[in-house]
Amino acid sequence: MTRFLDVSAVSQLLRTVGIEKAIADMAKYIASDYKRWDEFEKVSRVAHHSELGVIELMPTSDKKLFAFKYVNGHPKNIERNLSTVLACGLLAEMDTGMPVLLSEMTLLTAVRTAATSAAVAKILARKDSKVMAVIGNGAQSEFQILGFKAVLGIEEVRLYDIDPKAMAKLVRNLAHTGLRVVTAASVREAVKGADIVTTITADKAKAVILTPDMIEAGMHINAVGGDCPGKTELHRDVLKMGRVFVEYEPQTRIEGDIQQMPASFSVTELWEVLSGYASARENEGDVTIFDSVGFALADFSALRYINDTAARLNAGTTINIVPLLENPKDLYSLLSPVALPLMPKVKEGVAVQRISA
Ligand code: NAD
Repeated sequence: MTRFLDVSAVSQLLRTVGIEKAIADMAKYIASDYKRWDEFEKVSRVAHHSELGVIELMPTSDKKLFAFKYVNGHPKNIERNLSTVLACGLLAEMDTGMPVLLSEMTLLTAVRTAATSAAVAKILARKDSKVMAVIGNGAQSEFQILGFKAVLGIEEVRLYDIDPKAMAKLVRNLAHTGLRVVTAASVREAVKGADIVTTITADKAKAVILTPDMIEAGMHINAVGGDCPGKTELHRDVLKMGRVFVEYEPQTRIEGDIQQMPASFSVTELWEVLSGYASARENEGDVTIFDSVGFALADFSALRYINDTAARLNAGTTINIVPLLENPKDLYSLLSPVALPLMPKVKEGVAVQRISA
């Protein structure tokens, strides 16, 4: 049997653990998987584009587990009362191909994106960072902010969105977090004096959210919303103001803000810094830039984290998404008028137990 976590199971689980702890814990899974970089099969995601958005499949595996996420990006979905990003995913055993977990991943994508951003900022941002500007106050924003609070100890957030209702929603949702929350009248006002700037806007366009004159010495820029061809957030000259860090270079060259730069433009992959092979911030006054697009490895970590946590808390249900037959060669038995029984109860959950052991 396969563990199944729907939206309510994952939301219940995250509420039980506490969202800040869940992001901080997932950040540890992500950092530890990035340190095993060479053990993974890596490939840029398969992306199918339409005029309104993109649908993507993101696979990866190590010797033990295979994972994939199905995810989209449709900025105009909001007009149809649908989220910009919707996702689900699956974790399977490499030895057998048996799916061990089928899970919602819209919530998990927000958690894993925040966990990745926070894990990266933990090594790249200045240690005394306390103030973060967040441009784009939609679905991902609370997760980003609470991740930075939990992992870096951010105390003040400055918010800006072209949609005042999105800003008001974010202020409401942050009301009981202990953070100082300031709304700004422009990107420039939000960014001024911030230690960390997160851009997480949604527009299928070459947008210019940050320009060079807004960037101050020592800033860490966490650029999350420019994540597919023709969709950027940073003025190209901002990318020349500091070192640029990426998840998986071949994918980011096509999808990230660095799509604006020539192939010779130098970047550092995260695994190199997380494993200590490349330096992180060298001077207090350096500008560091994380050009985030979202890589399959973090989704693998997210599924691993949620599967372990669900096993610990006995969360979710089990489903027959593939047949478990008395005689595996007799698939036809499932069509028999007297359907043969599935495997006896003792064998149910075998894969789930094996993976969570
Ligand atoms: P969302 O639609 O819920 O929110 C986006 C917000 O950006 C909206 O409130 C919108 O008003 C605002 N916005 C658009 N243009 C703006 C501008 N010029 N200035 C200020 N605000 C602006 O979307 P979301 O789910 O929060 O996702 C945000 C972005 O992050 C999307 O582009 C998505 O594709 C991307 N994303 C990236 C990753 C990653 O791993 N890098 C993961 C998840 C989402």
